[in-house]
Amino acid sequence: MPKMKIAVVPKAGADFEIQEREIPTPGQGQVRIKVQACGVCFSDHMVKDGLMPWIQYPRSPGHEVAGIIDEVGPGVTSWKKGQKVGVGWHGGHDFTCLQCRRGDFINCANEKWTGIHYDGGYGEYMIAPWEAVAAMPDALDPVEAAPLLCAGITTFNALRHSGAQPGDLVAVLGVGGLGHLGIQFANKCGYQVVGISRGKESEALAKKLGAHIYIDSSATDAAAELKKLGGARVILSTAPSGKAMASLINGLGANGTMMVLGAGPDPIEVQTGQLIFGNKELKGWASGIAPDSEDTLRFAEYTGSSHAIAVTNCTAALHLICLAAGLGPGDEDLAIGENGHRVVTMLRRGRTVGQGRRETAPPCGRGRAVEHRPGHGLQAEGVDRVAVIIRVAAAPNDE
Ligand SMILES: [Zn+2]
Ligand SMILES: [Zn+2]
Repeated sequence: MPKMKIAVVPKAGADFEIQEREIPTPGQGQVRIKVQACGVCFSDHMVKDGLMPWIQYPRSPGHEVAGIIDEVGPGVTSWKKGQKVGVGWHGGHDFTCLQCRRGDFINCANEKWTGIHYDGGYGEYMIAPWEAVAAMPDALDPVEAAPLLCAGITTFNALRHSGAQPGDLVAVLGVGGLGHLGIQFANKCGYQVVGISRGKESEALAKKLGAHIYIDSSATDAAAELKKLGGARVILSTAPSGKAMASLINGLGANGTMMVLGAGPDPIEVQTGQLIFGNKELKGWASGIAPDSEDTLRFAEYTGSSHAIAVTNCTAALHLICLAAGLGPGDEDLAIGENGHRVVTMLRRGRTVGQGRRETAPPCGRGRAVEHRPGHGLQAEGVDRVAVIIRVAAAPNDE
């Protein structure tokens, strides 16, 4: 039986392990995908750190998957071998619960999450239910496309359902994994885009990505600044902090909506009056289904807003190992991971992924030098679009 390598978390809180397994066979309604690239998302730490007690281990995370259909199981009529596809956070639905019967698949009572309910993209192959699979435009590089399957779809889908119209003032809180894509999409949607982050460091990046205005929330009252600009129609809150979100509520204009995307540990404390006066809205948004991914991928492709990919967390990059096949030989910088496996960390820059210059992530590419710290991106100085692909080759002694 042919074998594959897969990176798994053996149990909650444990380090990743590279296992060799038989390449799985797709069952009824499933497809097998040969993984070309898988983004590293902060949410992957839920698997690593066992934040959901019901997760079954060993588990291989990864829900930003780009690859090629390699085999289709019985009953699958919508996919065929050789198709370029992606799989995101929404990993399938049951078609039978009340919400599914209403066609509201993202709110399926038995929704599956890729890499959480079943093994995700941190392996050379993965199995996915057919309904979780999105078609991928040919022109998109898998490395570039992978993060669009979570960070991309979440920001794009939230923006297009936010009620904002071209010309409206749209603020994006946070310039990290979600925010850097949110800013690009917001710009391409024709909004007046305000990037908000703490410190001056993110200003250049935010503006380069398409923010027309930048507000340093550590130096000024960002809500007051938004008010001066007329108040935001929408605030896309990507920073995982309830406190940071709460501090911006007063920056919403009349009928303004705060879209809550960043999952933070603390509550969003809002006075009732802050929402009542001005008919303001606080609304959560959770990614989307496969057709939404397809819209995101196409939009990113034809607007050229898929660059600056996957500014992932060091947390994720260090603690989570993403297996990504399909990168050309010599395309990598090597570092030795502490588990004895070779970990490949690639940062790509420049418009042409694949031909661009590569830089090794400074402290992040090596071992465990950086602690678990959300929001600490792998944004090396001067690197404006960062794809982090950590490819695990065989350990030196098993080659
Ligand atoms: Zn994610
Ligand atoms: Zn359902």
